[in-house]
Amino acid sequence: MSKPTVAIVGRPNVGKSTIFNRIVGERVSIVEDVAGVTRDRIYSSADWLSHDFNIIDTGGIDIGDEPFLEQIRLQAEIAIEEADVIIFLTNGREGVTDADEQVAKILYKTKKPVVLAVNKIDNPDMRDMIYDFYSLGFGDPYPISGSHGIGLGDLLDAVAASFPAPGEEAIEDDVIRFSLIGRPNVGKSSLVNALLGEERVIVSDVAGTTTDAIDTPYEFEGQKYKIIDTAGMRKKGKVYENTEKYSVLRALKAIDRSDVVLIVINGEEGIREQDKRIAGYAEEAGKGILFVVNKWDAIEKDDKTMNKFTEDIRKNFLFLDYAPISFVSAKTKQRVTTLFDQIKMISENHAMRIQSSVLNEVIEDAVARNPAPSDKGRRLRIYYATQVAIKPPVFVVFVNEPELMHFSYERFLQNRLRESFGFEGTPIRLITRARS
Ligand code: GDP
Ligand code: GDP
Repeated sequence: MSKPTVAIVGRPNVGKSTIFNRIVGERVSIVEDVAGVTRDRIYSSADWLSHDFNIIDTGGIDIGDEPFLEQIRLQAEIAIEEADVIIFLTNGREGVTDADEQVAKILYKTKKPVVLAVNKIDNPDMRDMIYDFYSLGFGDPYPISGSHGIGLGDLLDAVAASFPAPGEEAIEDDVIRFSLIGRPNVGKSSLVNALLGEERVIVSDVAGTTTDAIDTPYEFEGQKYKIIDTAGMRKKGKVYENTEKYSVLRALKAIDRSDVVLIVINGEEGIREQDKRIAGYAEEAGKGILFVVNKWDAIEKDDKTMNKFTEDIRKNFLFLDYAPISFVSAKTKQRVTTLFDQIKMISENHAMRIQSSVLNEVIEDAVARNPAPSDKGRRLRIYYATQVAIKPPVFVVFVNEPELMHFSYERFLQNRLRESFGFEGTPIRLITRARS
């Protein structure tokens, strides 16, 4: 089931990124390490009590050279299009401004729930400042302080109470959901058309429809598939749709809703920084991954070209050594249908369950070959392992002292699991716990 999405909107300096960071908390992200800059993070998973959701800081989506008011208008439109619930953020210290009213006007157009928050209410004496904000027409304003972390609980309660009921997606167990992710012009739309065998993606007019309507169902050799966010690949002509931040946001959302992610690389151009960030996110999100090198027809090749490209991918995506690579051409359709077999294979590995008895045999055997590490006379002892989740497979290993499990030994165990069970294309996770 896909998680609900929350977007924060509001004019500059009301505290959107402060609130975003508060809500997201201390999540360490590979993607961010690569990106380096804080405001680069505009999309993240988060949770509140038992609710998991994704959150967007629309303030981080800068839209070219548009004038100030136009920028915040467009950000509000993005929130309406991308979110299930919108947090409309204002600044209690400055009262209602013209820009707030502009944002409100855009938000009136949506049926999606809007929760109004008044930020910078740093102490209880300031609570009277919120009354002004009733005039915006979104009901009770929630007083909060991003810097002090006050009021966020009540705000998130209100947000969570507005989440849509879980949809039908939950029951489609027999459908493999995949997305094609990559920079503009790598050939994603062409590949989808080649996969479907018709000009369907370009033709369908889906402007303004809900998230589900932009997925394309398809059946191939008795297996049901759903191509996620195919409409998002088309350029629909709205100003913000060609901005990089927005397309990354779309990509991250599509990844979240997929079982398998096809990372499409333009064979003519090679690997770019953005490909790495997206791949890092897919790995972090625990998705099956397939590299697709497209436009293979357009490349001058000899018998070494494929190996060289493979090496390049392995060097640039060190943590994704398990992901297979397909070389295809959307133009000539060379090897395009083999993608379905790959996706199916990866999806099966992604959902694989290993019996505890077999799992423990493999672990025992691994430990016999390569004894567990020791530190100051204490040796790691592995008692028992069990699989606790699929999509991706997660294994809990019960040990005497978790601190003794080193990264390198964990990698070794993971590799043994891969060799024994063949988790090609899927990340796997190992969690070490003390046996109680
Ligand atoms: P954004 O442009 O809406 O993302 O706003 P920022 O999160 O960058 O915050 C703008 C400024 O307001 C920064 O200097 C923050 O430190 C400050 N700020 C954010 N939240 C609060 C708050 O709750 N109280 C006070 N006093 N300042 C805040
Ligand atoms: P998208 O932006 O990733 O969806 O890319 P498109 O599918 O719109 O393709 C971008 C351009 O690359 C178009 O001009 C396509 O005709 C071209 N293209 C796509 N796939 C191939 C391919 O396999 N070989 C060649 N030579 N060109 C391709």
